[in-house]
Amino acid sequence: MSNAAYRLDEADDIGKPTKPRCAAVEGGKICDRSTRHGKDLCADHIIESPYAKWIIEKLTLYNSEVARIKKSGSIKSIEEDSFVLQEIVKVLHYRGSKSIKGLAREISMEIDVVEVYARYMARRKLAKLRRAKKADDYIIDLIGAPTFTSPSFHA
Ligand SMILES: [Zn+2]
Repeated sequence: MSNAAYRLDEADDIGKPTKPRCAAVEGGKICDRSTRHGKDLCADHIIESPYAKWIIEKLTLYNSEVARIKKSGSIKSIEEDSFVLQEIVKVLHYRGSKSIKGLAREISMEIDVVEVYARYMARRKLAKLRRAKKADDYIIDLIGAPTFTSPSFHA
């Protein structure tokens, strides 16, 4: 075997992607199952990762608040430290003013529910509402620069 051929073989070996294996430890043993999309955890263990737990916790919080506001339809049901409100403010802050209908589309929330949050923001002087060119819609303009305490799903 010539030197050149040897180097080629070696390069082939190095170039081969190693299949990632799950690094989770269970009962003192490494799981070692193969993973998908280059992740370091298998499908069973990825759901137990701190990030997945955080996402699930926040989604649960988000969905239960949206359900509560939808049911009441009242700005009095929105709490000052509302998680959904923070998400909405983030979207408006990072992506600019939106109409109620446009925002509803963007964050996949029912228009009636977005409207409650818009009214809350107007009442609390977090935003101004102005009539949109299209009838039956309002543009939400944030007032001032908000500060955020947690990372976001939408922005
Ligand atoms: Zn695993």
